[in-house]
Amino acid sequence: MPRVDNDIKLDFKDVLIRPKRSTLKTRADASRFRLSHGRQHDGTNHNVNLQRSFLFRNSGQEYTGIPVMAANMDTVGTFDMAKALGKHSMFTCIHKHYPVEEWREFAGQNKDILQYIAASSGTGQGDLSKLCAILEAVPDIRYICVDVANGYSEHFVEFVREVRKKFPQHTIMAGNVVTGEMVEELVLSGADIIKVGIGPGSVCTTRKKTGVGYPQLSAVIECADAAHGLGGHIISDGGCTCPGDVAKAFGAGADFVMCGGMLAGHTESGGEIVEKNGRKMKLFYGMSSATAMKKHAGGVAEYRASEGKTVEIEYRGDVEVTIQDILGGLRSTCTYVGAGKLKELSRRTTFIRVTQQLNEIFTPFTKEH
Ligand code: 5GP
Repeated sequence: MPRVDNDIKLDFKDVLIRPKRSTLKTRADASRFRLSHGRQHDGTNHNVNLQRSFLFRNSGQEYTGIPVMAANMDTVGTFDMAKALGKHSMFTCIHKHYPVEEWREFAGQNKDILQYIAASSGTGQGDLSKLCAILEAVPDIRYICVDVANGYSEHFVEFVREVRKKFPQHTIMAGNVVTGEMVEELVLSGADIIKVGIGPGSVCTTRKKTGVGYPQLSAVIECADAAHGLGGHIISDGGCTCPGDVAKAFGAGADFVMCGGMLAGHTESGGEIVEKNGRKMKLFYGMSSATAMKKHAGGVAEYRASEGKTVEIEYRGDVEVTIQDILGGLRSTCTYVGAGKLKELSRRTTFIRVTQQLNEIFTPFTKEH
């Protein structure tokens, strides 16, 4: 007989973060908590410290930065995106389709940014040899992102073990999964940071095509608990539609938050701008959408078991504006709950279940977001 888990599982849209009384009066007041290098990396004048430092369990490597990251999609995780995010000590998982030669060129011109990027790999034929070629061409890359649709297969776990054996000192991100037992298995197999999320993505159709998935907020809460118990870390991957969702993911215990759609459609996102009815548009698509498959000629087929979709979104200009929106929102969240730094956010978060997020009365008349 099929089992039904009657516990309610929550998504970002089901909760809000309760504000908390604190001794911090203003954002400026929080400045005394700021690490001395906070402002220098961040380049802004706000004072809540969004930098985090981690020591990774299996690689033994250390990280310091703002743990918001660009997804390894070819319309998001580009070299240009890495340059823009790197200025803020934010992270980019570079998509797996750049030729080794372009990697060499990028690395030669952008040596300081390399600490904030990962090279991505699937588990398909040729993926591992390409990854090896990239890491050989650019030895300063310290992160590897192994990404498959279904992180539950034995083949995937074996692949992670193999990568760990080949690269004992690289920090390995691996996913995607949504349950604690699989997080533990991957951490014990050599991964440092587990990617969490099945089905929440803006251009993902897994839930529709397969009926499989897990509400993202609950997935993050449960997976963070499992990972942290073993000294591992997690990335909340997918489902963030606004800065408030990014804050909720951190509040739920995510160490990193990965964004696709929120960073798509910008100058740095790759692809052409096309003009339609006087509006500038850009194409954004899932990495297993028909568009991606066509573009990469069969090289993507095994990336996601289920199809992704293709959308045309309005061109949003330089990503810098969106970065400020995300970081500004996060700082404000911290201030509302009395967290002087991002590290304290999850400790100070109480989620309240809600039936409504926004007052939509003027939505049809909105001129800017
Ligand atoms: P977003 O931030 O746009 O909501 O989600 C981004 C995430 O969606 C990516 O990091 C990746 O995990 C997932 N994703 C990207 N392309 C596809 C796809 O074609 N199919 C599925 N199922 N997921 C995708």
